[in-house]
Amino acid sequence: MDEKELYKGYRGNTLNLLKQHNAPVWSEVELTTSTATFYGLILPRSEQADDLHIVLKMKTGYNIGIRYDKVKKIIIHGRKEAHYKIPEKEFPYSPKKPRVKLFGTGGTIASRLDYRTGAVIPAFSPGELYGSVPELADICNLETEKLYGVFSENMGPEQWIGTAKAIAEEIEKGVDGIVIGHGTDTMHHTAAILSFMIQNSPVPIVMVGSQRSSDRPSSDAALNLIHSVKTAAESNIAEVMVCMFGPTSDVYGLLHRGTRVRKMHSSYRSTFRTIGDIPIAMVNREVIRPLRNDYKKRRNDKTFKLFPFFDDRVAIVYYYPNMKPDMIDSLVEKGYKGIVIAGTGLGHVNKPLYPALGRAKDAGVAVYMTVQTLWGYAQMYVYDTGRDLMELGCIPLANMLPEVAYVKLGWALGMTTDIDEVKEIMLTPIAGEMTDREPSNGYLILQGGIPEVEEFISKVKK
Ligand code: ASP
Repeated sequence: MDEKELYKGYRGNTLNLLKQHNAPVWSEVELTTSTATFYGLILPRSEQADDLHIVLKMKTGYNIGIRYDKVKKIIIHGRKEAHYKIPEKEFPYSPKKPRVKLFGTGGTIASRLDYRTGAVIPAFSPGELYGSVPELADICNLETEKLYGVFSENMGPEQWIGTAKAIAEEIEKGVDGIVIGHGTDTMHHTAAILSFMIQNSPVPIVMVGSQRSSDRPSSDAALNLIHSVKTAAESNIAEVMVCMFGPTSDVYGLLHRGTRVRKMHSSYRSTFRTIGDIPIAMVNREVIRPLRNDYKKRRNDKTFKLFPFFDDRVAIVYYYPNMKPDMIDSLVEKGYKGIVIAGTGLGHVNKPLYPALGRAKDAGVAVYMTVQTLWGYAQMYVYDTGRDLMELGCIPLANMLPEVAYVKLGWALGMTTDIDEVKEIMLTPIAGEMTDREPSNGYLILQGGIPEVEEFISKVKK
């Protein structure tokens, strides 16, 4: 057996330690740390996990992670390989059901823990998904394809372009809807860039992830998958959307527009919120209920536009008090072509930055202003600061979110080097990234799902 098989998933620090002790995966061990001795079975490790912890399955059935640098001694008592597999069943084909394509890019949703062994294994074939979430077969004929297997911090222009092209191919083939499994951390960046790269899609393009892996009783993976597959198969909304938990409990999911959505909580399942607006729709196992009617409707044709371009010489500068001008100068010197500033209040930075912004303008760098408050507009006519900044070439982007402005600027610069054309692209709304007004009920929904807001308001009114 080769090393990769023997030490399944372990790498770096933990691989070295296990090799030193000649203790491959499935060894029954007595492992002594500086504080205690543990008896258990060394489990395979997810390739996406860190290289700091060894995972032991204890006699009690619990799995524990032990830091490699705490380990003093490992005594091997035997070997007990568990043969695990997700119950794979053939995904039933029904000629009457819509065809949905599920692309995998990685993240928590791409893995599931095997209950018996605790090992993290990918669940991706339609059969495996059907084995774990049989409801999917009631909705559609599902095809799956793994595009990438990364945590979403590793998604970038190469993967965005690859995903956009893969989606385009499926639309051309006549698919009824697309689902993209993705890590949640940067799902909103990918949703935004796909909204620009694929325009006028005739079918829904739904991004989905999970905040808690499917080994945990509180996992949101299965329900998010059901909601997103249902949306792709049945909804009339032909836009790039994010589909995740609405409220903190599993009452319903929300469909957020790809350019107005943001991850807002590091651990809640209801982490995705529409910013500056209200979500497009609610979805549960039975229905998809639109919350607005200005969405792009599903069509029967296969026409759409693909713009798979990106210039990565773009940066977001998050302003903080006392920022020094060298933050701007160094980007200009390094050859960056575009800078999105997330400014304070209505879109401001301090005076010492002005000369550096002037130098950026002279060097032909495109500088745009967004706001750190996320809600509301960059309004640079109100204070002198705003007017001065506009004189220096800094262009306000209304209520475009900073991350959306970042991907849009990289995308625009990928298509043209003409700074005036870039400006025209930036200031023309393409997929709802700038809106005329922000409804006040949108800000309330931000605080949680609608039921929670209603409950909160009823308590406050008493
Ligand atoms: N770190 C993970 C990711 O974004 C978290 C997740 O999948 O939710 O890829």
